[in-house]
Amino acid sequence: TSAIPPFSADIPPATPLLPVAVATPAHSGVGALLSYASAAPLPPGTLVRVPLGAREVLGVVWDAPEQPLTLPDGRAPRAIAGVLEGIAPLGSSWRRLVEFAARYYQRALGEVALAALPPQLRDLRPEQLARRLRRAATAPPAAPGAIESVAYSPEQARAIAEIDQENGPFLLFGSTGSGKTEVYLHCIARALAADPTAQALVLVPEINLTPQLEARVRARFAPVYGDAALVTLHSGMTPPQRLKSWLAAHTGAARIVLGTRMAVFASFARLALIVVDEEHDASYKQQEGARYHARDLALWRGREEGAKVILGSATPSLESWHASRPATADDPQGGRYRRLYMPSRIGAGALPRVRLVDLGQQPPKAVFAPALLAAITERVQRGEQCLVLLNRRGFAPVLHCHACGWKSDCPHCSAHQVFHKADRSLRCHHCGYASRVPRACPSCGNPDIAPIGRGTEQLEEHLARLLRNVIVEPAGRAARVARIDADTTRAKGALEEQLAQVHAGEVDVLVGTQMVAKGHDFRRITLVAAVQPDGALFSSDFRAPERLFALLMQAGGRAGRDAHYVAAQGGEPPEMWVQTWHPDHPVYAALRRHDWPAFAAQQLDERREAGMPPFAYQALVRADARAQETAQAFLTAAADAARAAQLPGLELVHLFPPVPLAVQRVAGVERAQMLLESPSRAALQAFLAAWQALLHAERPRHKGLVRWLMDVDPQAI
Ligand code: ADP
Ligand code: ZN
Ligand code: ZN
Repeated sequence: TSAIPPFSADIPPATPLLPVAVATPAHSGVGALLSYASAAPLPPGTLVRVPLGAREVLGVVWDAPEQPLTLPDGRAPRAIAGVLEGIAPLGSSWRRLVEFAARYYQRALGEVALAALPPQLRDLRPEQLARRLRRAATAPPAAPGAIESVAYSPEQARAIAEIDQENGPFLLFGSTGSGKTEVYLHCIARALAADPTAQALVLVPEINLTPQLEARVRARFAPVYGDAALVTLHSGMTPPQRLKSWLAAHTGAARIVLGTRMAVFASFARLALIVVDEEHDASYKQQEGARYHARDLALWRGREEGAKVILGSATPSLESWHASRPATADDPQGGRYRRLYMPSRIGAGALPRVRLVDLGQQPPKAVFAPALLAAITERVQRGEQCLVLLNRRGFAPVLHCHACGWKSDCPHCSAHQVFHKADRSLRCHHCGYASRVPRACPSCGNPDIAPIGRGTEQLEEHLARLLRNVIVEPAGRAARVARIDADTTRAKGALEEQLAQVHAGEVDVLVGTQMVAKGHDFRRITLVAAVQPDGALFSSDFRAPERLFALLMQAGGRAGRDAHYVAAQGGEPPEMWVQTWHPDHPVYAALRRHDWPAFAAQQLDERREAGMPPFAYQALVRADARAQETAQAFLTAAADAARAAQLPGLELVHLFPPVPLAVQRVAGVERAQMLLESPSRAALQAFLAAWQALLHAERPRHKGLVRWLMDVDPQAI
């Protein structure tokens, strides 16, 4: 399988050395490449197998550095063990992307490079791989057919014209149901038709949303380019499926790649267009390893490879909103992106009427205000569907003893264990620790212990009880309540099955977490209710109001999506109910008018004043240790060392004192973090890069330190 002789101890002294990226430990330093001897010249990007210690691992030949490669004193070079033949070298734009991501997110180049490749490339024997490649190569390219034409709305037509004519990047700001997806499809069609080798990448925030979009993209493009022209890439796929999709993108056989954040690292033969749907979604930020933001990398990649980038959202991130501000007299430059507006919904009536319920005016302990319950009952009786949204955060039921105040604390974390009725267990949502529900209070023996707080499970039960005598017409059957959340959808295919039941009209009230608020196209839902969303208003995270507004707008967007249905039902306008203790809060005032721009302007004013993103750049350093003092002492010492060494950028970087994380202890490990903030991204980057070495040097001085990590542009503070 390889023309290169295997590793041998006596490599001729003149054999040239090649830099190779291999998966090295997380903090071994950016740019750390290993040197291997190769008699044959191998172009950068070539996939190779190399000896590393006693193992043989996958590596990528990298570009020759400016300084000639050398080996540590007296070490003999080891030879490259083999080449993965039949796979074209990874292109220079892919290598630049990996280099940028490693540098920007402060990780080792080899780690980022190898994590970006499908895991199976590491494990397959060369002959297995050769078989895969032969199979992949046999898919016949389809002859282009005609694309059916769509009559676009005036707003769509304007957006399309601008995208066709300008370079972007674009922020497509369109209400839910305004036809953003149709615009994406048009742009994909345009890009693919313009160049027979062009490829498009479509990113979605969650695996759950891929099947719906995949069906639409497939219906549109499979007749034109063949079924094999569309592939998906996400973490729910088996290793062979992932390798197959990856190869298809790499060879150019796939014209469209639809995937979650990891797909931003796919290798493309010729990438011409990138769409980032729901660009505001926090799922685009990777939360372990290299903590990259797929939207930000998509923008970088688009600029680098000359691909158009379209970000789409009904509630854009404040970063993208600010970056797309129109030019004004005071600000003649405006933002770097082009903002495109599509406020009107297609085929749907107006956006739902927002009704705020003041919980201060309701009977005590009522989970549903009487007026809301009456509204739900009426809708259900007419055969319409309702969606009840519960923002579960900080709201999960905890077991509690009224006699002594005992609560079901997790023994390993500074968090409560949550009561799961289905299997009568207590589970910690942070470390996973599970135990049986005790028969009596472990502290005082009181047998009368009960859950406090309310999760989706309780809400579902409670609502089913309240609606038990309601008859759904014209079917004449009893009302049905169902729940969709992380617990009910754990099994493969469970979510699809449950969604199908909703679509088939077998469910009248759907109770769920934010999982159901996103993207799903429910035709018969006419009422959406958020029963207790206030928690987010007083969170320590400055992005919490932005997230809450987006979630509620999105949930509201599930109501009244089909104007024909609403009209046929008698035309009662769709509604979004919000129960709150703070009906005068600016978040709700803006929500009532569906006024994202007003809300965004108010939030941006606050952020500008406070010097927070997007007017400043942040990074977090986190330390985990056996004791909280150890974690904090490490961070303090590292900050002191940075000041003493007068690191570059320091004068523009503010280092805050270390603090414990909100959930301070997980699985017996104490966690602390230090926030860094700077008005200059370049200064922060220079500082972080220089600081790495000091952090490494500091580490061995702190006994009991488990690990430390860096999060650049953190999405949760
Ligand atoms: P969004 O992505 O903004 O939520 P979609 O693209 O899904 O909106 O459009 C909402 C609905 O309207 C979909 O059912 C879609 O098929 C339909 N639609 C979009 N554009 C048009 C159009 N120009 N003519 C007719 N129907 C359209
Ligand atoms: Zn725990
Ligand atoms: Zn007790």
